Amino acid sequence: MKSFLTSLIFTFSLFSAVAQLSAPDIVYTKLGPLTIQPVQHASLILTVHGLTIYADPSGADNFKGQKPPDIILITDIHGDHFDIKTIEAVQKTGTLLIIPQAVADKLPAADKVRMLVLKNGDATTQSFIMIRAIPMYNLPESPTAMHTKGRGNGYVLGIGGKLIYLSGDTQGIPEMRSLQNIDVAFICMNLPYTMDVKEAADAVLAFKPRIVYPYHYRGKDGLSDIKEFKKLVEKGDKNIDVRLRNWYPGK
Ligand code: ZN
Repeated sequence: MKSFLTSLIFTFSLFSAVAQLSAPDIVYTKLGPLTIQPVQHASLILTVHGLTIYADPSGADNFKGQKPPDIILITDIHGDHFDIKTIEAVQKTGTLLIIPQAVADKLPAADKVRMLVLKNGDATTQSFIMIRAIPMYNLPESPTAMHTKGRGNGYVLGIGGKLIYLSGDTQGIPEMRSLQNIDVAFICMNLPYTMDVKEAADAVLAFKPRIVYPYHYRGKDGLSDIKEFKKLVEKGDKNIDVRLRNWYPGK
């Protein structure tokens, strides 16, 4: 009995060491299937045509067993987006870090070898992926805001004819509301850092992505009501596919 219990505990700890991630989704592009793997909070993995992109990787254990990234996108300086320990644990030789200047300023010299700094409005093409940095900030704009305009980057990625939008930490700013032809959007919603679900739904209804994932929805008082977000979006436009996934595995 004792050994049974011991092995049970051992098995449990083995399982708990590996994050139980949501099943990945597939979106079809002209380059083949794009796999979307929600990881945690703001962290996600996109894989297409043999290329792997990590966005805001946080928590090295969350990436165990995943293909190492060719590109890492970082949106901002805060620890839930820029986690140097995780970057150093997951990167391989040749991994390209795409980052705002404020992140570059905090990067250890050894990790600056393969970095590309984008400021709001800049774009680059890496392999077959177009990457455009767009603003992310709190409203009203203020020099003392948690997210000041120009510091961090949201990103729009062009992959095989599809456009993917990562909001980063932002409110429903005009630059988000005026986006066009977005196929897949990842939208933050947590107070007091970004926006509430009502503001997020209103912004999404302004630019009408084909698919939207609420992500980055853990706030000061727990998780935002993403079911309410889904309800609000669907009430405004039934054609938008709101995908609720578990971005807080093991919690
Ligand atoms: Zn954040």
